[in-house]
Amino acid sequence: MAKYQQQEAILKQRNSYSKTDTDATFMRMKDDHMQNGQLKPAYNVQASTNNQYLTNYTLAQTTADTTTLKDHINNHIENYKQKPETLTADAGYGSEENYTDLEDKEITAYVKYNYFHKEQKDKKKGKSNPFHPDQLYYNQQTDTYYCPMGQAMTYLGSYQKKTKNGFSQELHRYQAQNCDGCPLRSRCHKSKHNRIIERNYNLIRLKSKARKLLLSEQGVAKRKQRCWDVEAVFGNIKHNMNFKRFMLRGIGKVNVEIGLVAMAHNLKKYSLTL
Ligand code: SF4
Repeated sequence: MAKYQQQEAILKQRNSYSKTDTDATFMRMKDDHMQNGQLKPAYNVQASTNNQYLTNYTLAQTTADTTTLKDHINNHIENYKQKPETLTADAGYGSEENYTDLEDKEITAYVKYNYFHKEQKDKKKGKSNPFHPDQLYYNQQTDTYYCPMGQAMTYLGSYQKKTKNGFSQELHRYQAQNCDGCPLRSRCHKSKHNRIIERNYNLIRLKSKARKLLLSEQGVAKRKQRCWDVEAVFGNIKHNMNFKRFMLRGIGKVNVEIGLVAMAHNLKKYSLTL
């Protein structure tokens, strides 16, 4: 029991840790030095850039990027004593929690959400799924959705859900009255009961705000800039500087190591302007 308790204390919220560096978590690598994709002890480096200068970095012990943004921005604010005016990030960061945090901090967020590209592609091709909750007709006055068969989906109630980070989400549920014998049923849903849909109105609002920003002239330019701004920095560090593995162990030392790499990158870049 004592051994398990000790291991759980090291794990905290994680599913794994390395025995040789207990701060490192097992993560799937794209390729190791032998060109095999494998699980390896790793840190998830979060980096911000501005015109290819590395301006902020944090180390995360989780594989998913979604939950790392808040701490990363807080680190920026703590170091620079000011918040960034805008932030551009890819779809891995487009969650309700992140959008809310950026809105609270009054940072203009050019952050994609899942399916942003698919949504735009389908729109161009004129494709749409009439069964998708976003496509159902909604009567705001009666708080009722109407399914493709024209049946009313009435409000069942709402409930709160907590994310891994403890962020509270509110979901509203609606149910169709009777799906028995409906000719569209096989295309509409797989449930044995009458169809239920869930709507998160805060996320719908935040996604609509993000969509507007992403499709604006500035948003298109920001999205293009993201590719050559941050990806080029990773390319330089990994390929040109050949920095692919940390040499030190422990999150404190690894933080110093990535800091030295960041300084080297920035100084090299600066020297090219002299
Ligand atoms: S299966 Fe139910 S919810 Fe779907 S179209 Fe038919 S009646 Fe409407």
